[in-house]
Order: sequence, then structure tokens, then C-alpha cells
Amino acid sequence: MVEATELFDLHRHLEASIPPLDIARAAQRFDIQALKKDGRTLNVSEISDLVVMQLGEKGWDPFYDTVVQARKAFVSTDAIRYLTMAAFLQAGTETKYFEMRVSPLSLIKDYLTNTGRKAETETEYKLVATEILNAMVEGMNMARQILPEHEFGLRFGISRTPRDNSFQKLDWLIDLFEQLNYKDNFTGLDVLGLEVEGDLKAVVPYIKRFRAYLPDLAIHAGESIGPKGIYDALELNPNAIGHGIAAAKDPMLMHELASRGIYIENCPTSNARVIPHILAEYEQHPLRTLTDYRDSDGKRIKIVLGTDDPVSFGLTIAQEHEAARALGADIGYIKECARERFHHIMDKRAA
Ligand SMILES: [Zn+2]
Repeated sequence: MVEATELFDLHRHLEASIPPLDIARAAQRFDIQALKKDGRTLNVSEISDLVVMQLGEKGWDPFYDTVVQARKAFVSTDAIRYLTMAAFLQAGTETKYFEMRVSPLSLIKDYLTNTGRKAETETEYKLVATEILNAMVEGMNMARQILPEHEFGLRFGISRTPRDNSFQKLDWLIDLFEQLNYKDNFTGLDVLGLEVEGDLKAVVPYIKRFRAYLPDLAIHAGESIGPKGIYDALELNPNAIGHGIAAAKDPMLMHELASRGIYIENCPTSNARVIPHILAEYEQHPLRTLTDYRDSDGKRIKIVLGTDDPVSFGLTIAQEHEAARALGADIGYIKECARERFHHIMDKRAA
């Protein structure tokens, strides 16, 4: 087993980090109608069926369904505070050091559906967004009081999926950042979904504007399409690439990542569960190719690990390290990179 105190989980989404037991508790406590059947609240095993992928089940759709189901519990600010705290506490049982990421755009959209509220004007939207962001930050801070020895942070995700395909309203969220000085509550930015539609140009102005407040940028790329996704992402000068497996196909790209010191946040279990058709292009998951890479000067690519969506996959960060070890990856090197990356993120926050 890997020593728990040495582990860092540096790619973990909040919406897929809430244990079924906590969702079941929330369903009772907040009387969540969408989590009821025949007039009674679903029990923990029924909730597990919704938010954990079946054993052997694979693909983007069954995975994303687990996230959609978990978001049904976001019915009030009290529920959001509670569920956020639960996600942080669960991660805290796995490791002392982690970074959580959340996708407020998608969460706000689902919250409006769950509550039947309307937020069509800028003022209404900002009001709802403020309530949700405040509740999340409070939930995180409650977890901090319970786990004073732990170190963790929350990253702000700018998300787009095939089912939720717009970045509109992001301007309003950035305004809120400006007005409410949220920047100390978040470690950086995470961009999701560039590979879904590939329209990089549409998101660039938002990222540039947002980055004035949250300079550390991670971008999901090289996951569902080939090296081009990473080349596109590199134009935005990111600090990290989420997944990045496609780099293993392209020595020029590996050279570029190594020489620019850009981190790859690798999540091998997630890849095996969500994108098996992409992984089929490789003999085995290419994590080892990435950790073994050295350019002519001996420079390596910085690699860290993450659980991505631990509840959906029934995964812990210790198991993810075991999976990486089984792939032949250099775990000592990964830990070294993770320590460096984590301190960089947290120090920047404190500065
Ligand atoms: Zn991710």
C-alpha cells in the first residue's frame, strides 16, 4: 500500500465526490422530491445505484448520468453547503492534501431546474450565483474547521459538455469575482469541454478576463481527441493539462510539455471507465510512456495523479496510485511532482 500521508489528489471534481450516504442524508434532511420513490426517500443503496457506475459499465453517457443524478441533491443553499462539506470530508479521509474543482455554470443551471427558480436577467442570475458560491465556500470552510491539519483548495471550473454547451453568462460570473473578491477562495481555473466542440476562440476572451483573478490555469485536453486538443490548449499558456494522454503519441508534444514545465494531471482509472474507445488505441494506458519520457537534455514531463470522479468510479486516491504503479509508472517521481505542484498552487493562494 502507498502511504496515505504522501498522496496528493490534484484532479477531483466536487459533483462526483459526494458519497452516496451523504446524498441519502441530504435527501432526508432537505426533503428532496427528486430523490423519492413511492412517497419515501431513496435509501443509500438506491442512491448508490444512481451516482456510482455499475461494475464494468463504461462510457461517457453512463458516467455523466451519475453526475446529473448527484446534482439533483443541490436543491437549496443549505443542501449545497452540506454536500460541499461532505465532498471535502470524504476526500479528507483519503488524503491530507488535495484540490477539489467545481463547475459553477452547470451547477447553477441544475439548481435553477431543481428549485424552479428563474434567473433570466443579469441581476437575478448574479443573485442566485452569489448564493451558490457563498454556500460552497462556507461548506469548504466548515470542512476546514473539522480537518484543521489538512490542506486543500477549490478550483473554479468553466465547463461545457455535449449536454450543456454554452459559456454564456460567464461574464456575469466574472463580474461577481470582481465585486465580491472571491479570488482568495479559489486556487485557479479549470476549463472543461474545449474538446467537445473545439471552438476555442469563443472561450479565449473569458479565460483571459478571468485569469486576472485566478492566474493558475488547468485545461482538460488530450482526453477525447488526439494531440491537436493539447496543442490548442497550449496556446492559452496553461499551468496544467487535465488527462493529456494523447501527448504520448507525439514526441514533439512531449518535448514541448517537458521544456515548458507544464503539468499533466493524469487519471488512469477515469480514462479506463469513461473513454475506453480512446484507450483502445494504445497497447496499455500511456501513463508510463509519459513518466518515462526524457528529452535530449534529460528533461521530464511533470506528472500528477487525480481520482477525477471518485464516487462515480468507486475509487480512492490510494487506489489510483496503485493503478499507476500497476501500469509501471514511476510513483516516486509522480509524488515529487505532486508535492511541487501542490505547494505552488497553495503558496500562490496565500501570496
Ligand atoms: Zn476532470
